[in-house]
Amino acid sequence: MTAHNVPDKRFLDAQIALLLETPDDDLDELLVAAGFEPPELAMRGENAIAAARAVANAKDAERGRFEMRRDHGYAPGNYSAQCSVCGKHHTADKRAASCVECADAAIAKGAA
Ligand SMILES: [Zn+2]
Repeated sequence: MTAHNVPDKRFLDAQIALLLETPDDDLDELLVAAGFEPPELAMRGENAIAAARAVANAKDAERGRFEMRRDHGYAPGNYSAQCSVCGKHHTADKRAASCVECADAAIAKGAA
């Protein structure tokens, strides 16, 4: 959510407080009256949460992989260098000692 579509945070907080304090049956009644299907809304909310969790997990996995490769001598970058493990020319961060393949091989060896 961006700042420009939140007209008044206090008003939003008041609405949220009202929703949280409303008994489930009353809330469902209001939602039906407003043309919503409560179970469908709940499912959409759960789907949105699951999607957000999946994105967060993917980011964690990506961060973890980046750190593991860095620990094994590789970081992405635009410098052309020679891998100190296999001797092949590769493109990486200028401080990288290893190519991505050798870093991944070292990670796999460590995990086995
Ligand atoms: Zn290599």
